[in-house]
Amino acid sequence: MDWEAVRDEVTGYLQDLLRQDTTNPPGNEILAADYIAGILRREGLDPVVTSSEPGRGNVTARIQGGAEPALMLLGHTDVVAVEPEKWTHPPFGGEIHDGYIWGRGALDMKNMVAAELMVFLLLHRQGVSLNRDLIYAATADEEAGKGNHGVGWLLDHHPEQVDVPFVLTEGGGSDFKVGGARFFACQTGQKGIFRFRMVARGRPGHGSQPHGDNAVVKLSRAVAALGAATLSLHPSKTLKVFLDGIADKQDAETAKLLRMVLDPEQSDTALASLPLDAKLVKSLQSLLRNTVSPTMLDAGSKINVIPAEATAWVDGRLAPGQTDESFLSEIRPLIGEDIEVIVDQYSPPLEASADSPLYRTVVEVMAERDPEATVVPGLMTGGTDAKHIVPRRPDTQVYGFMPYRQAPGEEEMSLIHGHDERTSIENLLFGTQVLYDIVSRFCGVA
Ligand SMILES: [Zn+2]
Repeated sequence: MDWEAVRDEVTGYLQDLLRQDTTNPPGNEILAADYIAGILRREGLDPVVTSSEPGRGNVTARIQGGAEPALMLLGHTDVVAVEPEKWTHPPFGGEIHDGYIWGRGALDMKNMVAAELMVFLLLHRQGVSLNRDLIYAATADEEAGKGNHGVGWLLDHHPEQVDVPFVLTEGGGSDFKVGGARFFACQTGQKGIFRFRMVARGRPGHGSQPHGDNAVVKLSRAVAALGAATLSLHPSKTLKVFLDGIADKQDAETAKLLRMVLDPEQSDTALASLPLDAKLVKSLQSLLRNTVSPTMLDAGSKINVIPAEATAWVDGRLAPGQTDESFLSEIRPLIGEDIEVIVDQYSPPLEASADSPLYRTVVEVMAERDPEATVVPGLMTGGTDAKHIVPRRPDTQVYGFMPYRQAPGEEEMSLIHGHDERTSIENLLFGTQVLYDIVSRFCGVA
């Protein structure tokens, strides 16, 4: 393989994608879908472009293979908003400076959209026969909350394009260190979402005459109770395998502490004593349990009027294994019986197998491409397109993996959704090489 040529080609695709403003809302992902479809057509492939409504574009293409369960390379082409004045280089410029490609989406996730396109084209050009169908999908609307103009919409309206048992997408792959050993997390799980309103009701009245039935006061008690609570531990299988995988590469004392993290009695002590990055500790504390963050409030409209109603919005996240019912039974005793709970959004937590053929292929390939590092399954507090797929197709195994090696002192991953998002060309090539190996091996080539 001429990897230098591949590097230049995939870099060009990423630059072009970054120059398309697909900020969601409104999205305009049709720009990316048409661009990618043009490339696929020039190569003799037969892409299909669909739109749920004007501007919201999805593109898929398929290479026919044998009878093994199909694999889809999935990426979203929408990006989150920017504040252009805070960027060093234009967020929709696709400019290259000092070995980095700059722009909104360079890490989330036009880099992987470009790398997956490259891998798909390479396999097509080689004309080799695959043991399974390989699908490429660049879809709309991952970034906007409940949004459903992308892969979920395709599953509802064009399932023949995207209904497959194995999916590779974003959400995992940046390396991290614990006690001198280096790891890559392949994302296998994500927390669920439970967004709700708490409504307190009371007696209206004049501000000059307080009474004991003030909706604002009642709501404040409930919000304060949520803020003060540390919810119980709900250890998951994914976290267990994650911590065991890290523990295997540590000295005996650290390994013991890592295994204590899942023990409700010892978890906090263990987390405080472990030689872990503060960010990892913070994320583990959230991953171990359901969480609640009150984020918005609404009550009253005049300083001298006691309102009859007060509302708080709460962003709740569910640990694997939890349901809407178990979550509610956990928070109800905290907020009391008087508060009405209105559910605005629920999507269950997800856990894919850390022992499927695709996961094992990721592990095997990384053992060759980066023998010093170990792959562990990852759970994330946020969501990916898996949230649109698994609730519709519970048997689908969705993995997040685009490897990224951060040089010491560099913090590219923290630029996701921030200013100055950029990816190094070196990592774009590394990710493309790894994805190429994973896909070709999983599809029975070499
Ligand atoms: Zn993303």
